[in-house]
Amino acid sequence: MELVKRREDCCGCRTCEQVCPKGAITMVPDQAGFLYPQIDDSKCINCGLCLKKCAFQSGYPMRKEYEPFYGYGGRHKKESVYSHSRSGGVFVAMSDVILQKQGIVYGADFDETEGFYKVSHRMAQTSEERDRLCKSKYVQSDLKDSFSKIKTQLEAGKVVLFTGTGCQVGALHQFLGKEYENLYTIDIVCHGTPSPKLWKEFLKMREKEFHGKVTNVEFRDKKKKGWKKHFETIWINGKPYTSRIYAKICFGSARPSCYECKYANQNRVGDITIADFWGHENAIGEKWDDDKGISLVLVNNAHGMELWNTAKEDMDYVDVTGYPFRHSNMKAPTKRKPDYVEFDNELSNKGMKYIAKKYAEYTPQNYWIAKIKKKFAKKG
Ligand SMILES: Cc1cc2nc3c(=O)[nH]c(=O)nc-3n(C[C@H](O)[C@H](O)[C@H](O)COP(=O)(O)OP(=O)(O)OC[C@H]3O[C@@H](n4cnc5c(N)ncnc54)[C@H](O)[C@@H]3O)c2cc1C
Repeated sequence: MELVKRREDCCGCRTCEQVCPKGAITMVPDQAGFLYPQIDDSKCINCGLCLKKCAFQSGYPMRKEYEPFYGYGGRHKKESVYSHSRSGGVFVAMSDVILQKQGIVYGADFDETEGFYKVSHRMAQTSEERDRLCKSKYVQSDLKDSFSKIKTQLEAGKVVLFTGTGCQVGALHQFLGKEYENLYTIDIVCHGTPSPKLWKEFLKMREKEFHGKVTNVEFRDKKKKGWKKHFETIWINGKPYTSRIYAKICFGSARPSCYECKYANQNRVGDITIADFWGHENAIGEKWDDDKGISLVLVNNAHGMELWNTAKEDMDYVDVTGYPFRHSNMKAPTKRKPDYVEFDNELSNKGMKYIAKKYAEYTPQNYWIAKIKKKFAKKG
């Protein structure tokens, strides 16, 4: 059986692997580290369940009820929360509601075994565990066996909140095959998920350059450069190095399906959609305009409204229903950059130093020259 005819037709959600009654499907990374299913023909019984449960093969069912959706711009009442979040910390307000019900929250964290080198989904049952899921990680997250665990937890009556990209949320609903009153889903407006291999190789390059191990990571470090700019800070042996190297490359390295994303529109799949509130100045003027982050919350259906109605008590917010959103990925998928056609091959065969030079004009020599110039400029 042929499961994926084109690489664009798979988001790597692992649904097929999880539902296969014979365990005939394994997920195998391609050159850029994106996972694709591989079928062991000797085990496959051609039951077709893998295709039936695949959201990409089933017309990408959506779940938006409200037209237009109810929209809110705002941020968490506590500065400590929105400083620890990518946008305005609405994810914390929503997940707190679930944790207060002794529920379970799923989201993206650094991997349990591979650490900073890999991003994967995991569950949280305490606020300490949940805090690890905060902040955008600009790498495709491996869902592992989250969907199977969620199904068991829902059947046992647990309240579950699942957060992820549109394709991940769409895949979960298709995997489950029915609505659960005790499940809430939040999709993030997504520009495309960057290559897991690029991320790993980038960290290894930094470790080699600065002779140590990665001890911390801050994607899009807003404490250092503000919310609107995109710089990553990587700590090597406790010392921070901030750069735009990864920022310049990562969104050109997204998964092939991202460039044809069926979730990059206003017909949403989660009960709630969250995003950075770009264009906030037109909708709410100068309110919260301190470059510390503002969230946009879109409530897509009655189930989402029930969650928002409690979560909003922890938020300062303004009703922006009807505001025309500026987000390009709520209108169309990101366009593939033409100069990235050879990217996967180059990453695999020529290595990260070559990639950094070609796509970010970065070499270690440049770094040291810039550093010396800065030192002399200060002295002078
Ligand atoms: C790959 C990616 C692309 C994005 N593209 C856009 C965009 O085009 N426009 C825009 O406005 N905003 C984009 N965002 C930002 C996103 O909208 C914010 O993370 C969101 O607004 C949440 O903000 P917050 O402050 O409430 O929570 P935060 O604490 O910042 O975010 C935490 C939430 O993000 C989820 N998350 C983090 N990393 C990932 C990941 N790799 N895969 C799946 N889920 C993840 C967590 O599970 C959690 O639910 C993107 C985020 C990611 C990860």
